[in-house]
Amino acid sequence: MIFSLTAHRVLDLLFPERCVLCGGYLSFRSRRGPFPVCGDCAGSFVPEAGPRCAVCSMPLISEDRLCMRCRGRERRFADNHSLFLYSRPRVARALAAYKGEGATGLAIFFGDFLADHLRGLDPGLVLVPVPCRRESLTRRGFDQVLLLCRALRRRHGFRYRRLLVRSGGGREQKTLNRTDRETNLRGAIQPKKSIRGGVPKRVVLLDDVFTTGATADACAGVLTAMGVERVSVLTIAID
Ligand SMILES: [Zn+2]
Ligand SMILES: [Zn+2]
Repeated sequence: MIFSLTAHRVLDLLFPERCVLCGGYLSFRSRRGPFPVCGDCAGSFVPEAGPRCAVCSMPLISEDRLCMRCRGRERRFADNHSLFLYSRPRVARALAAYKGEGATGLAIFFGDFLADHLRGLDPGLVLVPVPCRRESLTRRGFDQVLLLCRALRRRHGFRYRRLLVRSGGGREQKTLNRTDRETNLRGAIQPKKSIRGGVPKRVVLLDDVFTTGATADACAGVLTAMGVERVSVLTIAID
């Protein structure tokens, strides 16, 4: 034990790694798991409590059951659940580090929270990742939603199936307004060719951030046309 503690201290000195959220040095003692987040920062991630919209999970202030965005709006998915609010600075910082700075170890960090939520659902559920834009894949070098699926399978035993692909260029959704987002997505999300073994009846569509819901809606429309009967959506954060 003394030997191994000393060895870890030597490694800490040789390879100082910093917490992607607060910038503090991570040591054998201060890190919480196999991801670059210190124990204090990890402890500050608490899924949002309080009343939330029955469709998109946006926290409700004075509204009843549905938020303003979801009123009078047809959605092709049954519901979305987002663990955190994108407006919390640490949540936005962690997502930026994960998606934009190559902190891929955060797939495990987020995956553990997603697994906590998924364990309360149908045990036979099948996850479907929202497909990545080709430009994003080229720029980042990894598919951030697929990495979450892999972490969920490897560490928690959840199944996932890649039933969708994203074709064509399409502009990045976050740069567009709601109408343009819907136009941009039309035809871009398609069923994957050569799907073996039919499609599941119920799926949980996984994405990183829920904004207007246009991406989730386009994916749900395609999945429904493929024969899926119920599409729920699970996302790390809602913006
Ligand atoms: Zn930290
Ligand atoms: Zn809503």
